[in-house]
Amino acid sequence: MSGKPGGSKSTSSGGSGKSSGHGKSSGNGKSGGNGKSDGHGKSIGNTLRLVPSVDRCLAMDQVQRLLNDQPRRTVVRAIRETLDRVRNDIRGGNFSEGLIADDVISRAIEQRTEQLLAPRVRRVINATGIILHTGLGRAVWSEAAREAVHRQATGPAIVEIDPETAERTVRTHAIQDLVCEITGAEAATVVNNNAAATMLILNTVADGKEVIVSRGELVEIGGSFRMPDVMTKAGAILRDVGTTNRTHLADFENAINENTGALFRAHTSNYKVVGFTKAVSLEELCALGKANELPMIDDVGSGALVDLSRFGFDEEPLVARSIAAGADLVCFSGDKLIGGPQAGFIAGTAHWVRQIEKNPLARAFRVDKATLAGIEATLKLFLDEETLYRDNPTMRMLAMTADQIRGRADRLAEGIRALGAPVDVHVVAESSQLGSGSMPTENLPTWVVALTPPGGDEGTYTCADLARRLRMHDPCVFPRVKNDEVLIDPRTLQPGEDQIVIDTVRDVLA
Ligand SMILES: *Cc1c(COP(=O)(O)O)cnc(C)c1O
Repeated sequence: MSGKPGGSKSTSSGGSGKSSGHGKSSGNGKSGGNGKSDGHGKSIGNTLRLVPSVDRCLAMDQVQRLLNDQPRRTVVRAIRETLDRVRNDIRGGNFSEGLIADDVISRAIEQRTEQLLAPRVRRVINATGIILHTGLGRAVWSEAAREAVHRQATGPAIVEIDPETAERTVRTHAIQDLVCEITGAEAATVVNNNAAATMLILNTVADGKEVIVSRGELVEIGGSFRMPDVMTKAGAILRDVGTTNRTHLADFENAINENTGALFRAHTSNYKVVGFTKAVSLEELCALGKANELPMIDDVGSGALVDLSRFGFDEEPLVARSIAAGADLVCFSGDKLIGGPQAGFIAGTAHWVRQIEKNPLARAFRVDKATLAGIEATLKLFLDEETLYRDNPTMRMLAMTADQIRGRADRLAEGIRALGAPVDVHVVAESSQLGSGSMPTENLPTWVVALTPPGGDEGTYTCADLARRLRMHDPCVFPRVKNDEVLIDPRTLQPGEDQIVIDTVRDVLA
């Protein structure tokens, strides 16, 4: 495939399945033998007859070689798609002989086969400046988590069996000690993600019962996770109290009745209510729960395990604080601030956690051995705050200062300018984001490299072209596009990736 942003009129790659003549051909029907001529004595019908058959393609030398290494069914599919595209091109008025030459067709078949077999879930370079990009799989795993998964969990592994007695155990007990040590909780378990944790908690604690929650906290996390819907699906009855901006303790008190199952608090992760506001404090809610023998559930979202206020971030609630305040159940994500595999933690009283483990839904939401191994290694990093900011990539990216990033941005810009490629390069002040709906109003000052197509007659490509080329390249680079500039934020580049970004810019602008 051509790497040039300007070269968008490619006819030889079977990329998107949309050929250049696609629009025109649709009206021609199936036969193609309508005798339409291009003025050089060739008709569509005649040219179509020259297109090789599937069998002839299979016999081509290059295709034979392809069949040695690649699954036959994929090669046959690539042949069919390639021939369809060639026929469409012809119906669209392209009569070039080159289109149906054996070497051209076999090369296209080879390219299409490669495309079909290329991994769809593949490694990318995140240059967006969004630390936890859900589209890019959220947290970058630590080296420790990667190693643990690779070494401990790709073969048979101790997951829910006691090596001493060979008796069955509870699989999540492997990580319970660590969660309790770090959060101060009495007991803990882990499930597929925080959405599952929330459902499991509500279903265990309040099936058929009312759950009281402030109207200001009826969050939608995105991707159809809306608190009222989750409650309903979990079998609980939502009892929202107060108003959007102000909820008082008395609102909760007055709503308690004999069918109340729990008090619920959700961290408003992805938005902030500002101005004339009032929320009931964690401590007040916990005390109210205790007085009425109702469990108090705290969905803290990201789940800060360490105090981030030293970096000036005070929006994310500390799990340990909720536990200390007396929350019965606290749930949080594994792949947001914790920076590990996708998971949902539940920490709280042994009474409730044991009940949760017995819920059949826990079986439906359970994690596999790879996740468990990754979680164990990720949590261990939180035992030592001194090395945490070095070894946990999420924490490292969060803790970077704008000054530290400036040097990298300057060097990156220098490297790109030295390519002599047709692109304008500047270093500008910008903001990074935590992402995944966390800390939406938090400003993470950064410096980015801004790339813009040169103006004037040289302007042969657009910003969108450049961004797309970077994303479609292998290795794949995801930049941020803002105000007609392609931005590269060094904050989210991992060690060693700066040079890959430079090489990629060179390749796509060559
Ligand atoms: C992100 C979030 C969730 C969902 O967590 P996942 O791990 O993505 O399933 C639930 N509640 C809150 C408050 C969140 O911020």
